Amino acid sequence: MLLLDGKKLADELKSEIKTEVDQLVSQGKKQPHLAAILVGTDGGSLTYVGHKVKACEQVGFKSTMLHFDSAMTEAELLQEVAKLNADPDVDGFIVQLPLPAHISADKVIMAIDPSKDVDGFHPVNVGKVTLGLPAFVSATPLGITKILERYNIETSGKHCVVVGRSNIVGRPMSILMSGQLPTGNATVTVCHSRTKNLKDITLQADIIIAALGKPEFLTGDMVREGAVVIDVGTTRVTDTTSKAGWRLKGDVKFDDVSKKASAITPVPGGVGPMTVVSLLLNTLQAAKQKL
Ligand code: NAP
Repeated sequence: MLLLDGKKLADELKSEIKTEVDQLVSQGKKQPHLAAILVGTDGGSLTYVGHKVKACEQVGFKSTMLHFDSAMTEAELLQEVAKLNADPDVDGFIVQLPLPAHISADKVIMAIDPSKDVDGFHPVNVGKVTLGLPAFVSATPLGITKILERYNIETSGKHCVVVGRSNIVGRPMSILMSGQLPTGNATVTVCHSRTKNLKDITLQADIIIAALGKPEFLTGDMVREGAVVIDVGTTRVTDTTSKAGWRLKGDVKFDDVSKKASAITPVPGGVGPMTVVSLLLNTLQAAKQKL
């Protein structure tokens, strides 16, 4: 069984990004600049934005974190988005989700300039990705394609089962896997909460991408011998033995599934670090587009 080590791969990609940034700066160009808007104090969001800011520092990007109170109004947030759209120093920015219930995430995403939408959530980027045109690909699916690419996982002609159809993971992942890309050309089945006989479907998969947010949902009996398994899930479960009082669990029962899989991502240390590095890749692309 091959462990698809996202942490190690993310470190390699960060080092490659840093080399490019050093070259740009030595040529007198400006540092790529990523900004992040965070509203409220959701523990997970604080951690994720913290990782993103730290990763920017590691590769030599400038980063700006704008942290607002959860009482901020939708109009105020839209004003902040407009400011970042207009700021020539900012190459790309993200608005960390989820947002407080009184703010429409759709409205906020639609307000982001697509050329700065390094999360790849704006309909213009989603549409371009669907058409196979150059665009910012949503960070988690992009990170998964990088894992498949760097570990030379054959996808062409394979049956890929994606469990989950969210706009940020399952849906774009299914589009990329079926597209005419080096890490695409798969025959894709998308499953969701209404799917019947899920196990019959996952048992036919050469590649399974589990993105449903249900800890240890995918068990060994649902996986064919030799399948490649990508675990996107990151659910915080209570763990009194850990300092934080919780730990991350994936959607895959790792001990069980790893006995049958030919390759598998761990949680933590699989897709998560690759999501962060993909955001850096998108930001570098945004910065280079302006040169
Ligand atoms: P989401 O928006 O809640 O979507 C979950 C999807 O799973 C939905 O399409 C849902 O179906 C489907 N689903 C739920 N229960 C199911 C079941 N019993 N059988 C089959 N399908 C089922 O979640 P998300 O944003 O895509 O995230 C999924 C997981 O990935 C979460 O744990 C999240 O924390 C994690 N995540 C990790 C990263 C990372 O960087 N590692 C990034 C993003 C997300 P319906 O559409 O029918 O409701």
